[in-house]
This record gives sequence, structure tokens and C-alpha cells, in this order.
Amino acid sequence: MNVAFKQPPTSTRTLDSIAEALLLPSGIDGVYARTATFERVVNGLTDLISEYREPSTEVLRFPPVMSRRQVEKSGYLKSFPHFLGCVSCLSGEEHQIRTAVDRHEAGQDWTGALAPADLVLSPAACYPVYPLAASRGQIPAEGLIFDVACDCFRREPSKMLDRLQSFRMREYVCIGTPVQIDAFRRRWMKLAESFADRLGLSWRIDHASDPFFGRGGKLMAVSQVEQELKFELLIPVHSAEQPTACMSFNYHRDHFGSTWNIRTASGEVAHTGCVAFGIDRLALALFATHGLDLPQWPASLRKALTI
Ligand code: ATP
Ligand code: ZN
Ligand code: MG
Repeated sequence: MNVAFKQPPTSTRTLDSIAEALLLPSGIDGVYARTATFERVVNGLTDLISEYREPSTEVLRFPPVMSRRQVEKSGYLKSFPHFLGCVSCLSGEEHQIRTAVDRHEAGQDWTGALAPADLVLSPAACYPVYPLAASRGQIPAEGLIFDVACDCFRREPSKMLDRLQSFRMREYVCIGTPVQIDAFRRRWMKLAESFADRLGLSWRIDHASDPFFGRGGKLMAVSQVEQELKFELLIPVHSAEQPTACMSFNYHRDHFGSTWNIRTASGEVAHTGCVAFGIDRLALALFATHGLDLPQWPASLRKALTI
């Protein structure tokens, strides 16, 4: 495991100029309009990640909303209630909806009339895949790999460009035996090193924990590190002391397998793991490292990203 970064962090001036040129404000912290140049790099990254897709991987693209029931059942409210965004809508008879609209037009608060829908904003790309896999019956002996992606929402408003409320996540997800998940994660931690090198990024991989809610969450985080359930690929976007996690490598053990009763070919509860790419963070890290002028980027990188 690397301990030092090869490159110094980006200056605040460069980060400010990235904001001005590439991510336009919406009036809400952590929600930006992305310019064509930013999206060119995002598309290049997306295609490059697809090149690493392993044979027999099933590709699924999820919408930015998912079933509230599935998120509840996955235990999200226990671990991350502070991040969850729920969809709420006006419903009922026409006159009830009209009353709420009239309140708004009269300059009064209309939001009291909103009622929670059966949808939440997806907090991570892999949640919908487990119930879907479970609905198909036992997992084949060789295990399953999915390639999933969606726009994610987390209620963590920040002025920092690398901490968004709405961001894009791509994941490879493995479902199978503990041995298969371990091999998948090891393989991916190695692949991620060459992926980051190809992008010309300074990186290190380290143990990590999820930002669990509350005081009890601190204990969960300690145990997660002890059990080596999460690693992150870190890039010094702002500072070497507080680098930015641009990828994560997660082992959920039998959490999703038990929740959704996913069984392996031999009838055991399946284990799961995922490797997640923070697409917006990777793009930001590229601009922070190589500057705003795409033609000035190293030729090999431009070729890799077809830009
Ligand atoms: P962090 O350590 O930054 O709080 P996390 O550990 O909660 O992130 P994961 O749940 O592992 O992140 O999400 C997978 C990836 O999605 C992260 O490695 C990161 O690249 C990206 N990501 C997570 N949260 C955000 C965010 N608020 N803004 C932009 N990208 C994010
Ligand atoms: Zn995941
Ligand atoms: Mg983290």
C-alpha cells in the first residue's frame, strides 16, 4: 500500500478556476451545472471504465430514484439516515392540490401539503441490484458480476467541489461466495492502481470506513476498519492530509445476501462486494492535476479518454 503521494495537492486558485470554468453554480451548495468540457472528460472516463469490464458482466443503468421500501429494508435508515433524500409529492383530490398551490401563490408555505411517495433518491448505485438478483433465484457457481450506475443523492451540502449532493457513481458489483468476493476485491484494488496511473493521478489506497450516523456509528466505523471491509483510492485534490476518496472497494459480507435471501449454488447465503467509481470526483481530480486546457493534457491520457 502506498503511503505518500507523488504529486503535491492542487492550489486553491486552480480549484477556484475549475469552479468558474467547469461547474456552474445552481444556488444550492453541492449542486452544479456541468459544462461540455467537464462532460467530455466524464464520458471519456465512463468509456475507459467500461474497458475494464470483465467477461459475463451484466450491465444495468438505474434511474436516480429507487424504491423507498428497498432502501428501508437494506438498513440505510440505521446507518445513514442523515444522507437520505425522500421524494414527496402533492397528492389527493384536485381541490387539495389546488389549495397547496394557492398557498404558494399567496406567499405562504405550501410544503406542509407534501406527502412522502414510495420513492427515495438513490444514495448509491448498487442498492437496487441485490433484490433484483435475489428475484432470479440461486447465484450460479461462478458468481455474478454487474456493472451499474446512477445519479446519486446524499444530503451533505458543502462548498467543496468534491463533496456534492448530486453526483454520479459507477460500480462493479460481485455476488457469490466469500472467496469469490475476496478475489474480486483484490483484483480490483490492483486494477485501480493501473487505472489511476493511466490517468496520471497521484494516489494511495488506504483503509476506510463509512460515514455512519451518530455516536453508535463511530463504533461501527472502527470495526469496519478493523475487519478491512472498506478501502479507498485517495487523491490529494485539496491537501495530502485530507485527500479525496475517488474510488472505494467494499466487502458487505452477508449483509445484502441475508437481507434479500440471496443464495449461492450450494444454498449458502451469498456474500457481496462492490468497487465504486466517484465519476465527478475522478473528473475533478483530472482537471486539478492536468489543468483546464484539454489539448495540453498528456497525449497518452487524451488517447485513453479519447478527448
Ligand atoms: P467520503 O469518504 O468522501 O465521505 P464515502 O466513503 O461515503 O465518501 P462511498 O459510499 O464509498 O463514499 O461512495 C463511492 C464513491 O462515490 C466515493 O469513493 C466517492 O468517489 C463518490 N462519492 C461519495 N460521496 C460523494 C459526494 N458527496 N460527492 C461526490 N462524490 C461522492
Ligand atoms: Zn456499492
Ligand atoms: Mg469514505
